[in-house]
Amino acid sequence: MPSYIELPAYEIVKRIKDQELMAEDYIASLYERIKKVEKDIHAYITLTEDLALKKAREIDKKVKQREKTGRLCGVGIAIKDNICTRGIRTTCASHMLEDFVPPYDATVISRIKDEDGVIMGKANMDEFAMGSSTEFSYFGPTHNPWDLGRVPGGSSGGSAAAVASGMATLALGSDTGGSIRCPASFCSVVGLKPTYGLVSRFGLIAYANSLEQIGPITKDVRDCALLLSCIASHDPLDNTSVDRPQEDYTKYLIDDVDGMKLGVVKEFFGEGTQDSVEKGVLEAITKLEELGSDHQEISLKSLQYALPSYYIIAMSEASSNLARYDGLRYGYRIPNKSYDWSTVYSKNRRFGFGFEVKRRIILGTFALSTGYYDEYYLKAQKIRTLIKRDFDMAFKKFDVLIGPTMPILPFKIGEKVQDPLKMYMCDVDSVPANLAGIPSISIPCGFSKGLPIGFQIMAPPFREDLLLRVAFSFQKNFPVSAKLRSYE
Ligand code: GLN
Repeated sequence: MPSYIELPAYEIVKRIKDQELMAEDYIASLYERIKKVEKDIHAYITLTEDLALKKAREIDKKVKQREKTGRLCGVGIAIKDNICTRGIRTTCASHMLEDFVPPYDATVISRIKDEDGVIMGKANMDEFAMGSSTEFSYFGPTHNPWDLGRVPGGSSGGSAAAVASGMATLALGSDTGGSIRCPASFCSVVGLKPTYGLVSRFGLIAYANSLEQIGPITKDVRDCALLLSCIASHDPLDNTSVDRPQEDYTKYLIDDVDGMKLGVVKEFFGEGTQDSVEKGVLEAITKLEELGSDHQEISLKSLQYALPSYYIIAMSEASSNLARYDGLRYGYRIPNKSYDWSTVYSKNRRFGFGFEVKRRIILGTFALSTGYYDEYYLKAQKIRTLIKRDFDMAFKKFDVLIGPTMPILPFKIGEKVQDPLKMYMCDVDSVPANLAGIPSISIPCGFSKGLPIGFQIMAPPFREDLLLRVAFSFQKNFPVSAKLRSYE
């Protein structure tokens, strides 16, 4: 019998509800695993063991007394540290928010609590979600569970590494330009960026709010559908949240892609794509064809401008969103010397933010300044519209679009951290979905020299059902086995 830490969430829920497994024992076994491997991986910024065990005991009591329990009954979940948790420090992996304890829960956290999920702790990430490797964390990098010398991807690297190494059964990440899918791909787990507006962003500390969504990072596609069903719902507290009836996404776990039309996006196999990644993804497409789907190549010309347009928009929004961190009301504040107001303000920001965050605030402010606004920000927004139109056109012909999640395999820690352009280039395949607001899932399709490869499937807005169906069929017929390592 597999140990509990290896089981997917739906199995855990079933066993706890059937009283075959005590939530307390299972949560304790996750913390035992954390004690063994966290020193090597560093997936967490904050652990909440006492709270989690207390919650687990409450759930066991509820089950015993035959009270109604939620869909995540007892399951241990890692939460990216930019999602506000009441009473639990939420740092955004920044010195600026090192001691910030939110007085409220993000809406997704309330939903998880309503469903009886158990929060294991707050997961490591790139500072303010800016990065693709989790190396830009004030608390130090997370290591890839498949090769400790390599990055787990980012910015939700802690969330993906926790799930991949058995330190959490589920995780939440956020995706502004790939931050769920990139680490999911690098860690061989499943990650889904929902359609813009499907999941509430209330309580998500903003990086670039017109682009980002919270979403699930899980061991398999079934868990992904389960967690999405729990967090996706209309929220009056987020004015971009779309008012749609709530769905049970697990009903779309259908092993059938017969007759489906897959578009293989040419631009996703452009310059810089590693051969091993290309080969892995093309093999996955062939396998989907064996299952009865049809594929054809398609070119979306506007995608060649996706990366620069994403970075201009994301940095511009960041420069505005991060203006609130002045250290006056909350956040890092330099020791009290008798400086004047503006010196205190600038020193708080100078020492409170890391260099990548400062670089983006400066570039974003520049792109928005008089004289440059039309040249950069406005132009980027126009390209964004073209990209959206190209996707709309493609979806007239195809049910879903497919490409690699990442152009490269997980790289070595330290390899790109000094070269921002090289780091930004990693996002070339993930940012288009954010610019267009469409849903995208990354699922594992194999390994090359021991390193994970993932591919992404994109669908029209609010067609998460199609993503889950294709992903589920692939996973069911061609499972990628990923055994937990001992790190001894
Ligand atoms: N790597 C991208 C960036 O740095 C995406 C980050 C994210 O999705 N939060 O902006």
